[in-house]
Amino acid sequence: MKKIFDLKVFISSRDSTCDECGENLGQKAWITLIENKGALCLSCADLDHLVFLPSGDTALTRRSRKYSTLTAIVLKWSRTRKRYERQGLLVETEAIEKAEQECLKDDEARARKRERAALRRAELDSEYVTSFAIRLRELYPKCPKGKEKIIAEHACLKYSGRVGRSSSAKNLDENAIRLAVIAHIRHAETRYDQLLSKGYDRWGAREKVKEEVERILTKWQNSK
Ligand SMILES: [Zn+2]
Repeated sequence: MKKIFDLKVFISSRDSTCDECGENLGQKAWITLIENKGALCLSCADLDHLVFLPSGDTALTRRSRKYSTLTAIVLKWSRTRKRYERQGLLVETEAIEKAEQECLKDDEARARKRERAALRRAELDSEYVTSFAIRLRELYPKCPKGKEKIIAEHACLKYSGRVGRSSSAKNLDENAIRLAVIAHIRHAETRYDQLLSKGYDRWGAREKVKEEVERILTKWQNSK
């Protein structure tokens, strides 16, 4: 499927609250706007798996956009210029990596990757990630090897918001883990992101992949 447009993410200039989960997002929150309805946090907007690529490197931006199934333009209101200004793009990590590999010599790409990995690790509460992953493995014994770590890390990233950081997830609530697994399956195992990039709204896209998600979830749960 060809991507027909980019979603938009705004860096809010005042105190914001997510209209879906009700979370107070504070000032300068990253939000998406829904027509006449208000703001959504990136977690509720299903964009929290994307990483920020600041504007500046034209080739890297162009290639990252090309390789990313889903992209969002990040905009910020400029008080002095009285208009929205583009800050960069939200794209998939794999897309940036692929783009970097094209843009840079191998050793330079590796250095950048190391830097990013170090940054990412610093953001993780490793103990929490480990227990989250272990519990996930107990609940979803047929989840492909290594995925529990990826899902746990994503759910626990500080900026990833509510799923992994909520108080219930801290007690390793089954439902919180289930939500994290579902979010991962949607993005990684179905056409969900492609549907979003085609202009489907989240509910329409979720409806389309619902059966597929349920099927995989049941498969991963099955202990036999
Ligand atoms: Zn929210």
